[in-house]
Amino acid sequence: MNYNTRILINKSRIEGKFQLHYTKPLAYFLSLLSNVDMSIIEAAQIYKRTPFRFLPWYKTLHGGGAITLGSEHKANITFTENFYSDDYELFKNKAYLNNLRVWIRLSSHEVMHLEHAKRFKYLLWYLIVFAYEYLRYGHDLSPLEIEANRGCFEYDIFIHFTRYDLGIEFLKLVFDGKMNEEDQIKTIEEIWKAYQLSKSSN
Ligand SMILES: [Zn+2]
Repeated sequence: MNYNTRILINKSRIEGKFQLHYTKPLAYFLSLLSNVDMSIIEAAQIYKRTPFRFLPWYKTLHGGGAITLGSEHKANITFTENFYSDDYELFKNKAYLNNLRVWIRLSSHEVMHLEHAKRFKYLLWYLIVFAYEYLRYGHDLSPLEIEANRGCFEYDIFIHFTRYDLGIEFLKLVFDGKMNEEDQIKTIEEIWKAYQLSKSSN
């Protein structure tokens, strides 16, 4: 199976099996964006959609998507097949295997649902609350979705800051595979400090 090794790590010890998780530096970055505990983000298993794991049902040619499911102790995020493919013939410009921006931006939304899964404790209850909110408010106006979108907003503002105030391409700098994990975390920490300073001086 193909997966983006710059942001995902396979923790399975069995050859040919996959137990994907976010790397430590990405879990750290996502936790800064979302305020969700880094340990919760690191513990989440990352899946690829298969016929047996058919949620989410988004169409891949529309970009696909992700869904977060879980309960208090165990949660996972499933991304559609196009997030694991660089087959541009099959998925056109939605073949996101190497697209750090799409992966990380969507993740900054999904990790907030990890917090929701923990909050509602039981998968069934979590699904009921979601179903209720979707029916009552529609997907985009559901309070849980709005809360999750805060991670995305923070991502957008942060990237804008690094690009236009600092003049750097943050994702390339940190996640292009040239730095070791320790340096990645240090770099994220420093840039995040500068970002916080800029927010408080505005
Ligand atoms: Zn959502």
